[in-house]
Amino acid sequence: MPVSSAPTSASSCSARGDEVICVDNFFTGTRRNVEHLLGHPRFELMRHDVCFPLYLEVDEIWNFACPASPVHYQHDPVQTTKTSVHGAINMLGLAKRVGAKILQASTSEVYGDPQVHPQPEDYWGHVNPNGIRSCYDEGKRCAETLFFDYHRQHRLRIKVMRIFNTYGPRMHPNDGRVVSNFIVQALKGEAITLYGSGQQTRSFQYVDDLIRGCMKLMGTADDVVGPVNIGNPVELTVRELAEAVLRLTGSRSELVYRPLPHDDPMQRCPDITRARRLLDWEPRIQLEEGLGETIAYFESLLGLRSPRSMALAARTAVPAVAPTAAAPVPATVPPAVAQRSLPEAVCAPAVTTLENEAGVAA
Ligand code: UDP
Repeated sequence: MPVSSAPTSASSCSARGDEVICVDNFFTGTRRNVEHLLGHPRFELMRHDVCFPLYLEVDEIWNFACPASPVHYQHDPVQTTKTSVHGAINMLGLAKRVGAKILQASTSEVYGDPQVHPQPEDYWGHVNPNGIRSCYDEGKRCAETLFFDYHRQHRLRIKVMRIFNTYGPRMHPNDGRVVSNFIVQALKGEAITLYGSGQQTRSFQYVDDLIRGCMKLMGTADDVVGPVNIGNPVELTVRELAEAVLRLTGSRSELVYRPLPHDDPMQRCPDITRARRLLDWEPRIQLEEGLGETIAYFESLLGLRSPRSMALAARTAVPAVAPTAAAPVPATVPPAVAQRSLPEAVCAPAVTTLENEAGVAA
């Protein structure tokens, strides 16, 4: 039985027959993200904060705990470090007691504002130890240290993955990260906020690719411990992302420039050679497709339709004709977006500790 902290991995594990205990303190997550699993006979939801010890009998632990959006993790930075460090100690202690295999959701932030590009796993990073992002970056770095020391000292079976910017359905509209901000702003017709010049780069991975990578890593032999980068190596500037969102929504929102937050990395792109070799994994979902799914999700969640989806719906609508006995007239334009089913989240076995990217990672 796995214990898991991410709705998507929880879904995937349940779906493949595992019993899942999903642990969340709901600081940034919501019950809505796992509502579709609540009646499932092999799924259990538990409100708990990983900063406190947890006593369960499980075979696997998937530790995703820690808010991943800069806005959220900077809200209570001391608690952010505690979540990564005390959370890792508690989850590793649980793994040691019951002999469970344990996966850590680490992050591209361990590379800081990188001076090596793209970033391979053997790059040690360029990280400010006392800036406003340090609570997240150094917390996650310390968690990696703990994982590798438990592995060396106590022979624990560990898997460490470094997640690069991830997005997709089930993100919170106020998440604060760039993809959700831009989509929500475009749908509401509000200005798109570019921080700095908009020339900084990121590489955006769709959540389904991430979950496939997690499942593959957890399924590897015990000698595969990581760290392994899991991200999409297609790099673009933040401005190019804004333009893609405008194109895909048809929104006329203007672009406005805001100050660049401190220590905001100027470039980020994963070297995924190791993931390709060890996991036979690479991303499959192109940016346009992933953004399309995410836009549809936010349209449905917010009850808004983008100019583009309205135009598409109008084009596919059956033209109104006089009703006949044989052919009843459709009442309205088909609510294509509203009825679109969201991609089923992946379910993972055991304990998942939630909170992070989509509830996803950076
Ligand atoms: N960003 C932006 N506008 C926003 C939100 C973010 O220009 O409304 C920028 C941010 O400064 C960063 C990039 O987008 O350079 C990615 O930010 P995000 O918070 O999504 O994740 P990060 O990779 O910085 O953790």
